[in-house]
Amino acid sequence: MTRSEQLFAKAQQSIPGGVNSPVRAFKGVGGDPLFVSKADGAYLYDADDKAYIDYVGSWGPMILGHNNPIIREAVHKAVDNGLSYGAPTENEIVMAELVKKLVPSMEKVRMVNSGTEATMTAIRLARGYTKKNKLLKFEGCYHGHADSLLVKAGSGMLTLGEPSSPGVPEDVAKHTLTATFNDLDSVKALFQEFGDDIACIIVEPVAGNMNCIPPVDGFLEGLRAICDEYQAVLIFDEVMTGFRVSLGGAQAHYNICPDLTTLGKVIGGGMPVGAFGGKAEIMACIAPEGPVYQAGTLSGNPIAMAAGIAALTELSTNQESIYQDITAKAEKLVTGFKAQADKAGVALTTNQVGGMFGFFFSTDEKITGYKQATQCNMEQFQKFYHLMLEEGVYLAPSAYEAGFTSTAHSDEDINNTIAAAGRAFAKL
Ligand code: PMP
Repeated sequence: MTRSEQLFAKAQQSIPGGVNSPVRAFKGVGGDPLFVSKADGAYLYDADDKAYIDYVGSWGPMILGHNNPIIREAVHKAVDNGLSYGAPTENEIVMAELVKKLVPSMEKVRMVNSGTEATMTAIRLARGYTKKNKLLKFEGCYHGHADSLLVKAGSGMLTLGEPSSPGVPEDVAKHTLTATFNDLDSVKALFQEFGDDIACIIVEPVAGNMNCIPPVDGFLEGLRAICDEYQAVLIFDEVMTGFRVSLGGAQAHYNICPDLTTLGKVIGGGMPVGAFGGKAEIMACIAPEGPVYQAGTLSGNPIAMAAGIAALTELSTNQESIYQDITAKAEKLVTGFKAQADKAGVALTTNQVGGMFGFFFSTDEKITGYKQATQCNMEQFQKFYHLMLEEGVYLAPSAYEAGFTSTAHSDEDINNTIAAAGRAFAKL
């Protein structure tokens, strides 16, 4: 028995399912999860001290690699001044100004503690601002676990929400409309029927929770136009894409200006943090300036702010080299995977935007939607996943998650990963 296996058995006695967030339990790939003892640069180390080249990067934020010395030192310094005050600090202004500068659509910004808090509040704000009730999301997009967002499409393509988790009342779910990602007609149809009462569209501008699916040409532009027509708020959930697909996020990459943006773990350099922000006129509705309530005892936590300021400063100071680097590595990785799969006669297709990538065991040439993503060969993915683990490569333990490159991945890491993938494909 490995130490990870022992720990997982023990964890299940005191933690539901042995984990503090479900995807970590390896349900998507089978087998026991790795328990991590430390991480450094491009590498994760499990409880048995085996090293893995890591493409999860704490689910996105480790753009500069794990345990980056600049961020670590900023945290060490901040810790000396106490862990939390629950009162304003100058660093919160520095952080807000940095976010505003790098994501100009965020004219005002509020810090929270997670992506879930950011999206939950952005939706409340959109409802408060527009005085409308419904929200529109896309099947396969994940925006955290607030009640109104845990809704999937029922039967048929266009449908009123049905809760996808027990504990979400139907009365709440009925205000959530679900459309098809990359299909503007599905959005238009819902607006034609419910447009007077739709407060907002929330979208992952590059979907990262159904593998990696970029928007097709015109999709984000179309959402912008529909929101303008119906005076609905356009929310880009950039928890995953912010500072990842480019310094200014997906909105800069695709040149679309949302009304509100949500950000998450990336802006804390890995510390638990999130933020929402946008048009000053809308943000003015948030308490204490306006009547829409939102609060957080630990929001703007000084340690998280120190880590975030260090991370964002580094990303912006060296933006050209950093974004070229993580993009080139992601490109090389997916091109290499594809070539190796072709050689082994395995049907594979890939997607990639900036330092974010995905691969699908599919004969489809391009994957642009949820349905296609769910029709991929799951058995092959699971087998491939465990072969890669044996090879010392840690990929996201689910076929529905994107992968991430960092500046810490060396050319050798990328080459070794491609070679490992080649051996794995040959065994499928
Ligand atoms: N939005 C998106 C796009 C996400 O990927 C996630 C989590 N991966 C969230 C929101 C929720 O963030 P958190 O887990 O920090 O609550």
